[in-house]
Amino acid sequence: MNNNNFDSNSNNPEKLEIHECGDVVARMGDYVENELLRPERLAVEAHLNDCPGCAAFFASYKHVIDSAAELREPEQPISVEVQNRLRKALNTRLGLNLSYIA
Ligand SMILES: [Zn+2]
Repeated sequence: MNNNNFDSNSNNPEKLEIHECGDVVARMGDYVENELLRPERLAVEAHLNDCPGCAAFFASYKHVIDSAAELREPEQPISVEVQNRLRKALNTRLGLNLSYIA
């Protein structure tokens, strides 16, 4: 951890409370979603550059987010043809008489 970039005695009203790993982790979600204010974003990025632990956490966090986004995308409805084939297969296999599915 490297806190040298921050002057905790400063009276700067824009002083950011991003000094520690916990502060960065707490903002990770907003950071990934691009919802941080620019100074916050820069502070998080500065910390990630300085802190291998948070950088590693960020990498895996982002990987999870990206994977979830990929899973969410293909929301194609099942085509009628596929529905019919599935229905016929179910009827045949299970001895049912479904007239529709889904
Ligand atoms: Zn850290």
